[in-house]
Amino acid sequence: MRLVLVFLLSIVFLVSCQSKAETSKSVDMYNASGDMVGTAQLLEQPDGVQIKLKLEGLTPGFHGIHVHEYAKCEGPDFKSAGNHLDPEGKEHGLMHPKGSHLGDLPNIEADGGGLVDAELMLPRATLKEGKMSLLRGEGTSLIVTDSQDDGVSQPSGNSGSRIICGKINSGDKEASTESPTDPTEFNEKQEE
Ligand SMILES: [Zn+2]
Repeated sequence: MRLVLVFLLSIVFLVSCQSKAETSKSVDMYNASGDMVGTAQLLEQPDGVQIKLKLEGLTPGFHGIHVHEYAKCEGPDFKSAGNHLDPEGKEHGLMHPKGSHLGDLPNIEADGGGLVDAELMLPRATLKEGKMSLLRGEGTSLIVTDSQDDGVSQPSGNSGSRIICGKINSGDKEASTESPTDPTEFNEKQEE
């Protein structure tokens, strides 16, 4: 009986911990036309946040990818997401002596078929609370650009236009701000 009680208490403890400090996050990625073109799995690690990225439909070759300030992916230009996430007031670029932005990531490469299957690391970042959190405020976003990031040019490494965007935010907040009935979404579900 006592063992059962301890067991139940530890489950309650684990569940309550998970709801406060998130350790993983699944992000849906959309192109400028609003089509879902992949996912990013974010995982809290001791030295930062790991990002497992799967995308399709890109131009073969290298593309820039960055975490941006706001969880707003309004197409087609995704300017709504703001600048690169930079809570420390640094310069842009992984190769810049005064860099880098917290949201700066190495370029990703799409293969001949336009597919990306990459594992990236965002050192210093966290999914927990605090200055370096990707879920701070209303959240942030993950954006892929047309061209590759040169690693030094200001403010964003000459990486071209923003082509894919995914919101990194807590699911609860999103549910409360979005309208419950979206006719387009309903139609899409009906077609499936
Ligand atoms: Zn940057």
